Amino acid sequence: MKYFGSSGIRGIVNRDITPDFVLRVGQAVGTLNSSVVVGWDPRVSHPMLYNALVAGLHSTGCSVATAGMLPTPTLAYAARKFDCGVMLTASHNPAEYNGVKLWNPDGTAYDTLQQGKIEELIDSAEFRRATWRDTGWRVDVLDAVQEHVEHILGHTSSSSLSVVVDCGCGAASVITPYLLREMGCRVFTLNSQPDGHFPARNPEPVEENLEQLKRSVKTLGADLGIAHDGDADRMMAVDNLGRFVSGDKLLALFGRSEAKKSMVAPVDTSLAVEDAIKPAVLIYSRVGDVYVAEAMKRHGCEFGGEASGSWIFPRISYCPDGIYAAAHLVELLTEHGGFDGLLEEIPTYPTLRGSLRCGNPAGCMECVRRRVEEWFSGFDVVGMSTLDGVRISMSGGWVLIRPSGTEPKIRITVEARSLEPGELYQRAEALVRECIRT
Ligand code: MG
Repeated sequence: MKYFGSSGIRGIVNRDITPDFVLRVGQAVGTLNSSVVVGWDPRVSHPMLYNALVAGLHSTGCSVATAGMLPTPTLAYAARKFDCGVMLTASHNPAEYNGVKLWNPDGTAYDTLQQGKIEELIDSAEFRRATWRDTGWRVDVLDAVQEHVEHILGHTSSSSLSVVVDCGCGAASVITPYLLREMGCRVFTLNSQPDGHFPARNPEPVEENLEQLKRSVKTLGADLGIAHDGDADRMMAVDNLGRFVSGDKLLALFGRSEAKKSMVAPVDTSLAVEDAIKPAVLIYSRVGDVYVAEAMKRHGCEFGGEASGSWIFPRISYCPDGIYAAAHLVELLTEHGGFDGLLEEIPTYPTLRGSLRCGNPAGCMECVRRRVEEWFSGFDVVGMSTLDGVRISMSGGWVLIRPSGTEPKIRITVEARSLEPGELYQRAEALVRECIRT
């Protein structure tokens, strides 16, 4: 059975993510590895799931190092000393969710092949069984946060900017404010007491959840604001005027400074990124940070990311690292002398997004694939990709039609550099409607 989604195993606690299920995950991971480091974000369900996971790991003879409550990228960095890292987190999902993410020693998430092996083992229940004397050792890892901080400081210059950090009561609370202070910044903290009920705001760092941060940056006259999701693999920013900085602008900003030859971003990325990084090339991947990291390794790219707030810098790790991204953004702004003029250089092209309900997304997408070229023949089509859904590129814009990963819907995204966005959207919507009918 398929248990992994695009970002690990995730679901509602005691409905999808039960102790007996997590016990089996532990047995499967332990069957394939001899030593594992385990960490968790502040969600209130972590003690129950941690104990189930560790019982499963030890039953196979796997040794367990416990790193405690910490961000996902910190755990992924700690995994370099073990066979595998296991993070109990549901990332940016609401408090009732939890989940499991698995990490390789080089900081990459388990890829589809590795996920398949875990899923097969969970289903077959052919787990390794240790004898009474071989259930493995257990130790506490006390220095994971400090080692991650030192690793980042080794790649970052100092700064005296003033920064408001909104950890959303998530795992970043134990690291980002301290790291930025060590860099020399003046740091104001918001929601930086870990609390698995996420009382201050929804953990997802999207604009509507960051009103408090936007106001605080303005009121305090800070140079920027930083926001994390629940497990701090993601980072978003607010400028010195309290305006939310879009993910595409951050992608363009990081891409321009990092990518000498090439970078990776998902198929729904703005053309502004492609324009900003020239002469470097933008390589497209499927939507999901695991796919971005896979493509980066395959093509040897210097940088990759997703507009939702995942930024991957191979000099640190192949795990999206919201903490290093915060430090690096501070560094870039220090070099440039603040946000002034920096974001205005990056264009914003009109974008339209929408979705249509569909009972048979697979059948509909098959029809879209078959008919899209004929349907857009009146436009100046320069390419088509079926990497993730169907993306059709024209000289003045693009259309992406893809099934939702979580709902029975087909999503449509349109961006137009020189074409009329409404016209493109209507064309795409009419094609999807036609395909839903047939
Ligand atoms: Mg996350």
